[in-house]
Amino acid sequence: MTEEIFDCCIIGAGVVGCAIARRLAQFQLKTAVIEKGPDVCCGTSKANSGIVHAGYAAQPGTLKAKFNAAGNPLFDQVCHELSVPFARIGTFVVAITDDGIKVLEKLYQRGQENKIPKLQIITDTQKIRQMEPSLTPNVTGVLYAPTGGIVSPYDLTIGLAENAYVNGVQFFFNSEVVGIDIKERYKVIQTRSKEIKTHFILNAAGVHADEISRMVGLDYFTITPRKGEYILLDKKCIELNHVLFPIPTPISKGIVVSITMEGHIFLGPNAETIEDKEDKSTTTEGLNEIIEGARKLVPDIPVNEAIVTYAGLRAVSDNNDFIIEPTKVEGFINVAGIQSPGLTASLAIAEYIVELLENLGVKLSVKPNFNPIREIPPRFATLSNEERHQLILRNPDYGHIICRCEYVTEAEIKAAIHRPLGATTLDGVKFRTRAQMGRCHGGFCTNRILEILSRELQVPIEQISKKGPKSELIVGKTKDLWRITVEGN
Ligand SMILES: Cc1cc2nc3c(=O)[nH]c(=O)nc-3n(C[C@H](O)[C@H](O)[C@H](O)COP(=O)(O)OP(=O)(O)OC[C@H]3O[C@@H](n4cnc5c(N)ncnc54)[C@H](O)[C@@H]3O)c2cc1C
Repeated sequence: MTEEIFDCCIIGAGVVGCAIARRLAQFQLKTAVIEKGPDVCCGTSKANSGIVHAGYAAQPGTLKAKFNAAGNPLFDQVCHELSVPFARIGTFVVAITDDGIKVLEKLYQRGQENKIPKLQIITDTQKIRQMEPSLTPNVTGVLYAPTGGIVSPYDLTIGLAENAYVNGVQFFFNSEVVGIDIKERYKVIQTRSKEIKTHFILNAAGVHADEISRMVGLDYFTITPRKGEYILLDKKCIELNHVLFPIPTPISKGIVVSITMEGHIFLGPNAETIEDKEDKSTTTEGLNEIIEGARKLVPDIPVNEAIVTYAGLRAVSDNNDFIIEPTKVEGFINVAGIQSPGLTASLAIAEYIVELLENLGVKLSVKPNFNPIREIPPRFATLSNEERHQLILRNPDYGHIICRCEYVTEAEIKAAIHRPLGATTLDGVKFRTRAQMGRCHGGFCTNRILEILSRELQVPIEQISKKGPKSELIVGKTKDLWRITVEGN
């Protein structure tokens, strides 16, 4: 038996790792993605603002600025190919004082240096209020960036990964990388369950990228997590046409009021430097800070429409910029410190990795049968009654609504489980179908989805988890537990 050696192994299945995987799938390379979670998009890529930034915010000359500007225009084609919803709704940076206008002018200049098209400062407050009726009457001007947009970050990450997979990339889940051995001809990546051999390693491990780098003896940067908390409000509780940013702070773009692709309004994030790379808790102080910030932009924001709070972790490097480079360990490439605008930059980073590999002598022969198109099953909620009727006639599972808030049917949940790189957890179903994402946030449908996952995957319901080991919901059947407690057997 010949030993299996990959050409490239990507550590981390966030949006950056998956964008690279999909790009490498276009070549005749043996590529794998190694992920410690049970699915793609288990890290920062699932909890961010989902904004495709125009690119005026980053300091000119930085990698953030370069890849933001290059990444933004790539979204139309890639989202089209992958059936990922994306909309260029435009962004506003909102000034509420005359001094604020001076900041808008600086941002505008920065945008010119970064070559961002179509930026304009609007100071006609009547026009601004027409464009954005919910905005504070205190507005003195806005920096309008029409090329800014919104995308669902988990739809994008899942779309990239699925397309990479059907084009030949292998994914290893539940495979935490715990060590790397450098051999003469290749590298050996040790996970908790197996060893994987490869010529090249792309370290895209998010907040843990510094630890992976240290595994090959490279200790030249650290990643500090900076937490951002959010409040998600119910759909369409205010009219909102654009992403609203305040004047930025020295460490963040500030607390935004924005909208998701599905029409939920959200507020956040704040920015708190923390130590624990797993701390995704929300706090009373953080949420109050967010409400206060959001009210400066939209005074009547209906906070009582909140349905959930959550947090994501920015991967902040020592120099506050992306670290994307080959290293002195041959074949080991860092793709680290990818904080905001990393989602926007991800597609351009993937392009750059191809360039880097080529420069390092990797033979990149185009795969003739690469298929860039991803088909997705119909979304019942978005169909007309006639279309729904036709679907139900073809497959009665479309007649069985599981998630009442988001109108998700049993057929869609089964499809999410059985499609390429299908869901194995409650979160996996949630991010692929929206079941559990509505107003009751799973209060009604979680049990039903657990049953479907157990039945379709043929594993006991006690083993079905929210997001991998130690997040199982069912400990046993009430009758069995009662018998053990009362009868002692
Ligand atoms: C609050 C907040 C708001 C943001 N808003 C925006 C925005 O609006 N627009 C924008 O462009 N960007 C935004 N960003 C930035 C963007 O979300 C990130 O840059 C992007 O998601 C980073 O993706 P990634 O793939 O590098 O990291 P991640 O998504 O974190 O992926 C890294 C993966 O590596 C895995 N991993 C870690 N260690 C190991 C190991 N030892 N073995 C195997 N796997 C491992 C993790 O499980 C994880 O799945 C925001 C970030 C935050 C925190």
